[in-house]
Amino acid sequence: MRIAIENAAIATVDGEEAGTEYARGHVVIDDNVIEAVGDGAAPGAVDRRIDASGCLVTPGFVNTHHHLYQWATRGYAQQSTLFEWLTELYPVWSGIDEEITHAAAVAGLVRLARTGATTAADHHYLIPRDGGDVFAATVEAARQVGVRLHGVRGSMDRGESDGGLPPDDIVETLDGALRGTAEAIDRFHDPSPQARVRIAVGPCSPFSVSLDLMREAAKLARDKGVRLHTHLAETLDEERQCLAEHGCTPAELADRLGWLGPDVWFAHGIHFADDAVKRLGETGTGVAHCPSSNLRLAAGIARVQDLVHAGCPVGLGVDGSASNEDGGLGIELRQAVYLARLKNGPHSATARDGLWLATRGGARCLGREDEIGSLEPGKQADLAVWRLDTLAHAGIADPVAALVLGPLPPLKLLLVGGTPVVEDDEIRTVDETAAATALRAASGRLRR
Ligand code: ZN
Repeated sequence: MRIAIENAAIATVDGEEAGTEYARGHVVIDDNVIEAVGDGAAPGAVDRRIDASGCLVTPGFVNTHHHLYQWATRGYAQQSTLFEWLTELYPVWSGIDEEITHAAAVAGLVRLARTGATTAADHHYLIPRDGGDVFAATVEAARQVGVRLHGVRGSMDRGESDGGLPPDDIVETLDGALRGTAEAIDRFHDPSPQARVRIAVGPCSPFSVSLDLMREAAKLARDKGVRLHTHLAETLDEERQCLAEHGCTPAELADRLGWLGPDVWFAHGIHFADDAVKRLGETGTGVAHCPSSNLRLAAGIARVQDLVHAGCPVGLGVDGSASNEDGGLGIELRQAVYLARLKNGPHSATARDGLWLATRGGARCLGREDEIGSLEPGKQADLAVWRLDTLAHAGIADPVAALVLGPLPPLKLLLVGGTPVVEDDEIRTVDETAAATALRAASGRLRR
């Protein structure tokens, strides 16, 4: 099946900066792969032509950090620092099970798809003893919604009795965590270019796991050839605790534990000194920048431009929905641009920088730059067709500015590997009303 999308503005994001753009161009898709991108009408015969006049076509967005299960716990701890927020939420989260996780993951993935995301990394570190197979529930939700999943099998082995924040009944033993992580890789990881599910290894954060688990997790990931992910340098509280316990900063600790490299990406990465930024850049370590979550928890402003200039792959993330009730990726582009301007001045970040972070930057962060993240022949047909022809964007001449600086437009079409997931601004793969009902029930059960 060959499909041509025509008459649309196209932002390919095929370069290090903005990339090639067409004011009125075409994208030809052959089955699951992009065959051609160019100016004017699509040449030759195709099976279906889609007239996308008044639209902008971009690569699908890549979400690099999330905790989908938190969709069932939105609206808690509304005015808290990270540590206060965790302390209030851990006991609630200890009640999650397979059913709640599935309902939350479906809801979260629908929201991501409806805001332009075609790939989502989900960091699931909460494995209650009697909760059933919560990790598999998220994988199943991703298959149903049709968004590519990078399932990070997380873990915690440092409960309250070991000086950690989580209650003891939601932490695993070191051996149990490693065994569960190895099993998740063997069951679900697909290394192929068109993979719908990949697995990564992700102890929750250096302050919620033992140093042995950090070290052993890195070994396991490298033995299995998968990526590594954790939270790092999110708050100054974390830095103070790290200095007191280990006599070094979180970035130095990560370095000591073998946790820097092109196969690692950190969530947040806010409080890095100059030498840490340089070291992360030299090692090609990635960062998932989560603007809305950082704002809600007043965690700080990440040094995104410094990290990018140093050579770090930086992508965008929504973070878990308990610290970002919106959970949509689309608005994070603008948040990222505005936060960068607040930090570095009004001439620092452009609308195209926001689009780059959400697409190519995210793909690089997840180690998939050869497969997704830009509109180029041979890449997976993951793309978003945004409607800019309504009142909301009328008169904005620059389509990329309309998308990033304007309100998030409706989606005419969202394709993942050539398959429609959103059409005419409606999710096509699952029943959205049923998903809302299931989420309401799951959230209510957890609250009780
Ligand atoms: Zn997080």
